[in-house]
Amino acid sequence: MNEAIDIISNLAIVRDRIITATEKAGRAPGSARLLLATKTVPAERVRIAVEAGEVLTGENKVQELKEKDHLLRNLALERHFIGHLQTNKIKEVLKYVNCIQSLDRPELAEKVHQRLMYEERTVEVMVQVNTSFEQSKFGAHPDDAFRLIEKVRSLDTLQVKGLMTIGLFEADPEKVRPSFRLLREIRDQALQNGLLPPDANELSMGMSGDLETAIEEGATIVRVGTSIFGKRQYPDSYYWNEKNN
Ligand SMILES: *Cc1c(COP(=O)(O)O)cnc(C)c1O
Repeated sequence: MNEAIDIISNLAIVRDRIITATEKAGRAPGSARLLLATKTVPAERVRIAVEAGEVLTGENKVQELKEKDHLLRNLALERHFIGHLQTNKIKEVLKYVNCIQSLDRPELAEKVHQRLMYEERTVEVMVQVNTSFEQSKFGAHPDDAFRLIEKVRSLDTLQVKGLMTIGLFEADPEKVRPSFRLLREIRDQALQNGLLPPDANELSMGMSGDLETAIEEGATIVRVGTSIFGKRQYPDSYYWNEKNN
């Protein structure tokens, strides 16, 4: 098996899916970007996708960011953190990423801010909302989302770009649709009432199995791993569970 051809042909299929879904939804070309979800994927394989033209990556674990850094450091990449972030890992994660998509609680926002004040810098963030109401997933409860956005806006080291969600863990994309729709509704309301600035309109949602549905519902970033790099050894619950991070 030629791993490079594998990744490149998978990538072509995923790009095609994104283009088709974007067109079908009557949206502007390029309005939904691809983020490579690279958890467990060795840096050499990530590099193949990046050299094929991808510019946006997302990791779930600080340890993996660190391990892959030497092979990816010289690439022009936008690096996002998409995993559950424990407060004791803030300092480490800030060494590697441009954006923390998984900002999901006020105390995390406060602690990231404190660290950034000390470093005299800023970072981009997205507010993660739990739109599936599943206990096992992280993200602010939809009822608390506006309060969390308000908190983030009050901290001037945090440049809020929009919202992120994982969505219902379900093979049938139609069952995931309400999660995506809810995230869009929260964003639209927050934009309307000025809670989010006009340019903070990102919606990071949709993965390998449901990216078309997510794009129909307004995703500006889809996070794709399996469809590009192949199946992972552990179920996603492993990466989304606090005790494993
Ligand atoms: C793993 C992961 C993805 C990608 O999931 P796939 O089904 O492999 O495409 C997206 N978002 C998050 C937060 C993830 O942990």
